[in-house]
Amino acid sequence: MRLVQVAVPVPQLDSLTYSVPDEFPDPAPGARVLVPLGKRVLTGVVVGGPVPLMASGSWLLASQNQQPNAGAAYTQPQAAGGRKQKASSQQPTASSHSIKPIIDILDSTPFLPPDVVALAAWVAEYYACGIGEAMATAMPPRSWIESERHAHITDNGRARILSERGPRRQLLEALEDGRPVRVESLIKKAGTHATLLGLERDGLVEITQPLKGSAAAHRTVRVVSLTAQGHEIAATLDNLPMKLGARQQEAIALLHGVPDGIETSVLADRGITTATINRLTGLALVTVSRRTVDRDPFAQATTPMVAREPVVLTDEQRAAFDRLSALASAGAFRTVLLHGVTGSGKTELYLRLAESVRHMGRGVLMLVPEIALTPAVAAVFRWTFGERVAIQHSGLSDGERHDQWHRIRRGEVDVVVGTRSAVFAPVQSLGLIVVDEEHDASYKQDESPRYHGRDVAVVRGSHAGALVVLGSATPALESFHNAQNGRYELVTLSRRVLERPMASVRIVDMREEYATAGPDVILSRALCDSLALRLERREQSIVLLNRRGFATNVFCRQCAATLECPNCSVSLTVHKAERRARCHYCNYSMGLPKACLNCAGPYLEQLGFGTERVETEIRDQFPGVRVSRVDRDTIRKKGAIAALLTQFAAGAIDVLVGTQMIAKGHDFPRVTLVGVISADVGLGLADFRAAERTFQLLTQVAGRSGRGEIQGEAIVQTLYPNHYSIRHACRQDYNAFYQDEIMFRRGMKYPPAVALINAVVKARTRESATADAAELVNALRIGGASYRVLGPAPAPLSRLKGEYRAQLFIKGTKRPAMREALQTVLSTRPEIRRRTIVDVDPMSVL
Ligand code: ADP
Ligand code: ZN
Repeated sequence: MRLVQVAVPVPQLDSLTYSVPDEFPDPAPGARVLVPLGKRVLTGVVVGGPVPLMASGSWLLASQNQQPNAGAAYTQPQAAGGRKQKASSQQPTASSHSIKPIIDILDSTPFLPPDVVALAAWVAEYYACGIGEAMATAMPPRSWIESERHAHITDNGRARILSERGPRRQLLEALEDGRPVRVESLIKKAGTHATLLGLERDGLVEITQPLKGSAAAHRTVRVVSLTAQGHEIAATLDNLPMKLGARQQEAIALLHGVPDGIETSVLADRGITTATINRLTGLALVTVSRRTVDRDPFAQATTPMVAREPVVLTDEQRAAFDRLSALASAGAFRTVLLHGVTGSGKTELYLRLAESVRHMGRGVLMLVPEIALTPAVAAVFRWTFGERVAIQHSGLSDGERHDQWHRIRRGEVDVVVGTRSAVFAPVQSLGLIVVDEEHDASYKQDESPRYHGRDVAVVRGSHAGALVVLGSATPALESFHNAQNGRYELVTLSRRVLERPMASVRIVDMREEYATAGPDVILSRALCDSLALRLERREQSIVLLNRRGFATNVFCRQCAATLECPNCSVSLTVHKAERRARCHYCNYSMGLPKACLNCAGPYLEQLGFGTERVETEIRDQFPGVRVSRVDRDTIRKKGAIAALLTQFAAGAIDVLVGTQMIAKGHDFPRVTLVGVISADVGLGLADFRAAERTFQLLTQVAGRSGRGEIQGEAIVQTLYPNHYSIRHACRQDYNAFYQDEIMFRRGMKYPPAVALINAVVKARTRESATADAAELVNALRIGGASYRVLGPAPAPLSRLKGEYRAQLFIKGTKRPAMREALQTVLSTRPEIRRRTIVDVDPMSVL
């Protein structure tokens, strides 16, 4: 009996053992197979085997020499080691009847290449999630067939209905009318899956996978062509043996001489409708067939091309490039942290490196935080690499992503630019991985698998023997720490290109402003004056407030109640244009009340303010100003953000107000002023990264100013002018910030000084959330000498989407031991495990 290990997309599940029926060949690792699981049929990915029985689960998986990013505390992951043990100890013996056979093999060659399978397996292990969940992340959309199988009755089956009994007969009767029925709903009505498979084996029922099969996920178009009879008619159009309408004749004339046929959509453009085609089909003059085509995202101009100006590298850029290309040519794994101030020309280096690696015949992967926010980077890659680049981002449809993935898999592409999940793109013989803005929080996925794209990129580079370049003006503490301790090599660009100075930054102490101008001030005197000056000079400004909405609170002056979300422990934000109050966590919303919901008093007051209010304020103060806003509320529609940024680049907008979205990597040469409304928004959060986030945001947004020929200015309004994150950001002094921050992390024992795992238990009541978390804490304390357990405590968001949340932390230096302890404790408490979120290396602890 041959056995294989299969990963199925079920949360928290290890790989499962299945047997391969004799009539099947050995399924290749990385191939998709259909397997039974309980009553369902799922698509899984072969991750190990086939192995002879009783062999020790020979996983093909990850090599042991990987060196991911995550901090000093990082010790070598045992790759799939932990699971290997489990898998082999659970491996049943030959006499066991519990091993089920796979139902089908969907791919004769690996669907996922072996290196991607290994990478996903590493993710499952490291981030403590189900191996199938990790595989699913690596798959393009529409690669899963999930019980989307249809059963039909065969002629044979129809003939046998009356001679069958029991469930077999019931099943056949349910199919009697000849229509295909989804296997799942069929089984609900009659019989079991086993019965159905029995009927299929006997040829009474046929099971097809019409919807989600791999082939069907390619886009097909309907193509009309003439039949032999049609050709005859076409030759005699003047002298017709039968009566045809004008449209029908026109269609035949068009199709005549096009042996490959014409797409229905093209015919439709010529006024030939489906009805006409149907009539011609009825007369047997034409046939309609399907043809597979690739969806081309470029055809729809989601990624425009932008010409790349030829530049001469500065001395600093040249030195950096020489070092990086030497490392790339060496063809061995190395990670470089490219610390370059804003406007130092990092993108130019990425492009040149990518070109040279491509010429060496190796593939390039470029990760970016969110292309929709920085379309310019994708556009310049598109210009440079033309057809050989694939761009992957959330603005693409599933179909487009699917087709791009297959283009990469077929080797038609050697440069991939994409967001987080592109780290799994099946690029062949990778030689270079770039992670641009490596500090960006969007690299961490906030649902399972909770992986960090940058750290996975480093592991992938180590497997592939590739150069990994992490670029940022404000590196993550982890990354800079790794550069300090020698795990990464540090390459620095300390100056902007073309001798352009950094923006000069002015701090406005809002406590003084409130004292003189009253407590309702939003735009300080200094900021108003500077804005006025820019409008006069026809230069552009960016105004940042990292909080959307109009007001952050509705408060009753009579009873002091505030308007709270019924599902979450937060107050509702007022969205004035919408006339609604909205929860930013669960999206619950209600019409703005006229009276207090608690005491019915009419004295409701709106407190706090967000971007919508700032936009209004600027309009009021500067009549006629062209102001637009960029935040999650204004860019809901696909393409809205790109349109706004294009307008801004073209000078059609004077002032752009927005959240952190406007701080990211943009290069607008006419921006000479950046205003920050409340620099300390993030400092109030109970999160050990609050200072780091604040520093990064302020430095990045100040970096948007003065990128052209005119010196830039930034004005930072704050209540805490002496906080180190604000002081250092204003001097754009990363090294000083790092020194202060690493002291804090060491003192408080936070990453990167230690490794951190966060677990959040959700429950229907506060008491049971706390009790369950306490149970985990106690069990962990019994097991562990090598780590510390903190908690249980209510999560900062103690109620979210109707569920209460309690959390605990595990701190230590041996991540594998910590993770294993937690896994063990959870595995003996499956009911709590189901409600527990495990976050390894959390980015935020809300
Ligand atoms: P960063 O990503 O480091 O903030 P960019 O790569 O966006 O900086 O570069 C800033 C601007 O400088 C871009 O418009 C880029 O085309 C331009 N640039 C880059 N290198 C040079 C150079 N050597 N000479 C002139 N302009 C350059
Ligand atoms: Zn809510």
